[in-house]
This record gives sequence, structure tokens and C-alpha cells, in this order.
Amino acid sequence: ETGDSDAKNLRVKLVLLGDSGVGKSCIVLRFVRGQFDPTSKVTVGASFLSQTIALQDSTTVKFEIWDTAGQERYAALAPLYYRGAAVAVVVYDITNPHSFHKAQYWVKELQKHGSPDIVLALVGNKADLQDKREVSVQDGTEYAEKNGMFFIETSAKTADNINQLFEEIAKRLPRPSS
Ligand code: GDP
Ligand code: MG
Repeated sequence: ETGDSDAKNLRVKLVLLGDSGVGKSCIVLRFVRGQFDPTSKVTVGASFLSQTIALQDSTTVKFEIWDTAGQERYAALAPLYYRGAAVAVVVYDITNPHSFHKAQYWVKELQKHGSPDIVLALVGNKADLQDKREVSVQDGTEYAEKNGMFFIETSAKTADNINQLFEEIAKRLPRPSS
């Protein structure tokens, strides 16, 4: 879905997937509003926000972001959000191995049912919690490499690598030919 994209102004649908509590909503809030709210509410169903960034070549990319709820009872709704998405960002929490396994489930689901040319990013969030780390950088890197995904560790709390995540995604988008 490129909508009204042209060669200089891209519009892309991006979906965030991952276990409940990994920090998806905080990543979006940090990226769109530059804020971190430690008392943020659990996402119900899904929420929508958009943010535009400018790249060095003066291209702009408007991200239309669907932030989904990770709870099991919403799993059946996920295809509504990733269908037609140009980008899927699969998030886990580096302090929570279960969330890393859940991320792998989402990657397989996207490989089976997502658009064939979808840009996939794997994100290890809560990188500020180094003393509680239970998923190594190497495990994340290797899994992402095997699956042709872009990998980055972020912290929505400190803002570390949040803008970089979206900039790297923007660079990997297929450009419409004009
Ligand atoms: P979601 O269910 O994936 O949307 O997760 P939320 O964005 O609601 O975040 C879940 C919890 O993790 C909240 O208590 C956040 O304050 C916390 N959290 C989110 N991102 C980070 C982070 O980068 N570092 C730390 N330390 N906590 C975070
Ligand atoms: Mg949420």
C-alpha cells in the first residue's frame, strides 16, 4: 500500500507486533511525541498514529503506524493490521526470553501471511535494563540475519536508537519508480 506516494514523498503503513508489555506503545510515543510515560495504559485492540521524517536526500517518509495489542484475545485481529503493511516491526523485551520466542512466532506468521515484499525489523527493546538482560545481542542478530530482517536494540525510556530504527526502515523501503 503506497497510497499517494511519489518518488519524493513516501507514505507507508507500518505495524508493530509483539508480546504485551515489551514496549511497543512506548516506542511509538517516543518516536511521535518525543515522550516516555512510565504509567502508559495497555493498548486495547490497536491504536493509530502517524509521523513524517525527512531523509538526507530530501525524501520524506510518512509512517502510518498501527500499534497493536499483544494480548492473546486480540491475536485473531492481527492480520487486519499487517495485511497490506509495507513494514512490520516485531518487538521483544531483552529482559524477557518468552517475548523473544513470541517475536519469532510473529516473524513466521508474517513470512506466511504478510506481503511478499514487506520490510521486517526485529527490535530488542528495554536496552537500558542491561543488568536484567536475558536475550543476548548475538541471539537477536543471528535470528534477524537468518530471516533477512533488520535488527536493532532500542530504549523507549532513554530514546536510544528510536529515531535510528525508523530512519533505517526508511532507507530499506522500496522506492516507487517515477
Ligand atoms: P506494549 O504492551 O508492548 O505496548 O508495552 P508498553 O509500551 O505499554 O510498555 C510496557 C511497560 O514497559 C511499561 O511499564 C513501560 O513503562 C515499560 N517500558 C517500555 N519501554 C521501555 C524501555 O525502553 N525501558 C524500560 N526500562 N521500560 C520500558
Ligand atoms: Mg501497547
